[in-house]
Amino acid sequence: MPNGKTHNKINIIVLFLILIGLHSPLCSETLPLEYLSTASITIFSFSFLFGTYYLSPDLDIKSEPFKRWGPFRHIWWPYQKIFGHRGMLHNPLLGPLIIILTVGVVFVAPVVVALGLNAREVPQELLILLFTGIVLSIETHILADAISTKTKRTTTKVKKKLNGSGKKK
Ligand SMILES: [Zn+2]
Repeated sequence: MPNGKTHNKINIIVLFLILIGLHSPLCSETLPLEYLSTASITIFSFSFLFGTYYLSPDLDIKSEPFKRWGPFRHIWWPYQKIFGHRGMLHNPLLGPLIIILTVGVVFVAPVVVALGLNAREVPQELLILLFTGIVLSIETHILADAISTKTKRTTTKVKKKLNGSGKKK
């Protein structure tokens, strides 16, 4: 699997491609205008980067994203014990769900309750932008892991075949 730094690089490249893609006619014709404003694109980019650096599926090991949580890193520890590396947190559906729910329950919900905020007053567009940024960053990571595993397997197979045919001679 790619290491942490490679994952960051891949995610940033993907973010750039998304940002370029947003300027394509397809996006400007299909996406509602409010999602294409500078403010929206900035929020999306920040949540994508936050997802990349703090909400990586590699929270299931003692990775850089795990260490970035400082004293709060222990909230991810149960997943390391229960799922192990590349378990549930690397599942394309359950991974983002578990990670976002954890942040929601442990950090967001207590703040909302403590400040007496009305969650319904939060603009829907803002939530969609935050979720999309985070989910896409997680999916990019999972996809990069999957591709790298597949490539490694194919290379090993090819190498084995080459070695095999070499031995026959
Ligand atoms: Zn990973």
